[in-house]
Amino acid sequence: MNLLEMKDLTVQYETDKETVYAVNGINLTIKEGETLGLVGETGAGKTTAALAILQLVPDPPGKIKGGEILFDGADLNRASAKEMRKIRGGQISMIFQDPMTALNPIMPVGEQIAEVIELHSECSKAEAMTRAMRMLEKVGIQAERASEYPHQFSGGMKQRVVIAIALACNPRLLIADEPTTALDVSIQAQVLEMMGEIKQELNTSVLLITHDLGVVAEICDKAAIMYAGEIVEAGNLEDIFDHTEHPYTQGLFDSIPKLDVKCDRLNPIRGLTPNPAQLPEGCKFHPRCPRCTERCKIEEPKAVEVSPGHLVKCHLCGGQEGGSYGSVG
Ligand code: SF4
Repeated sequence: MNLLEMKDLTVQYETDKETVYAVNGINLTIKEGETLGLVGETGAGKTTAALAILQLVPDPPGKIKGGEILFDGADLNRASAKEMRKIRGGQISMIFQDPMTALNPIMPVGEQIAEVIELHSECSKAEAMTRAMRMLEKVGIQAERASEYPHQFSGGMKQRVVIAIALACNPRLLIADEPTTALDVSIQAQVLEMMGEIKQELNTSVLLITHDLGVVAEICDKAAIMYAGEIVEAGNLEDIFDHTEHPYTQGLFDSIPKLDVKCDRLNPIRGLTPNPAQLPEGCKFHPRCPRCTERCKIEEPKAVEVSPGHLVKCHLCGGQEGGSYGSVG
């Protein structure tokens, strides 16, 4: 059963001078217990899509211009502020990239976890603290350290505390926005492993936002590749890693160094992501695409299903039109 379903979600930032087309009609689904990796370069619209789920797109200038975000069948776009306060941190939690800014520097970490528990469950302060200490142990930090402040923890430990806060109320959906980008590689691996274990234990669904395909391979069940506010390819890991179809996805793989292939220079995607206030006509990837044709410059490709659950938005790909990105497995 689908826990989260985004249908044709469109988000824009409007100012006096320009309109920024951040998310342009994306479709995504996440089932119970499933992990979806949302992959793309900076500015692709990944974080805006995630913020829209929690109604956290800053308004103004941000506006959800269309589409639905169904969580357990109910449209979050229609939820009241009071309903959203219950959902945030209770049923849907979010981990942000930088643990330094996510934690309150003048509050002991145990109290920060307990505060969320108190807010979302009917329990006493003492019980919330007991649960907070248990949560700390679950993320690999001794319960006795609950009275310590964020500055007394290393970067990896701080991110563990952030994860403990996010999982404190056993959310059904965890949104993790680049959760390991600010950490050393060795700590990244530990945090990812821990997230995977806790997810298994609690059967939490996860939307993992990342630019790192290695992280996707490690912990995701399926992936959606985002470019210029659109999802250009989606499928399970085999579709994306072994049967890559979209030239942009191919470009992402070509940009990664391979230990078994000797080469003098990597083959990065040429050019830069387009300005979201001035997106190109036709296929939005065409100015950077090595396989661009005249048709690509004027006609926007439609999403086609090249094999069950594997969707691609490119004129070069035949297949059945339609489908819902991310609804694989
Ligand atoms: Fe490249 Fe054309 Fe496909 Fe766009 S539609 S990715 S420009 S080949």
